[in-house]
Amino acid sequence: MLKKGDKLYSILTGSCPKCHMESMYENRNPYNPGSLFKMHERCSHCGTKYKMEPSFFYGAMYVSYAVGIAFAVAAFVISFLLLGATLLQTFISIIGTLIVFLPVIIRLSRNIWINFFIHYDREALTQRRASRSAS
Ligand SMILES: [Zn+2]
Repeated sequence: MLKKGDKLYSILTGSCPKCHMESMYENRNPYNPGSLFKMHERCSHCGTKYKMEPSFFYGAMYVSYAVGIAFAVAAFVISFLLLGATLLQTFISIIGTLIVFLPVIIRLSRNIWINFFIHYDREALTQRRASRSAS
């Protein structure tokens, strides 16, 4: 279902938005303290520069707002509608969900943000290899 070439693949795995060959992040685990925001400068496979301009990823904050709401809605549906929790319990579970999933939300937002601007390119790898061997 999830395969290279789908935008969703890059978004969910945090892989290079252009070639989907490697992770954009130095540490794939978002819960590793200290490396949440550490990203590679560029893709070692296709050479795509992730941070296209200074403070490029500030825009991801707008996305994180939407992603955070999606998580909050999911928490609401599960605790209030499915588990029959009280409003207070539901409120607590929403806050807890947002705190626990914050690293995931931040990374998902970056992945979605960069995928707005860079699209999958099947040719990216072969072009890069060709230009390397030519020079
Ligand atoms: Zn790449």
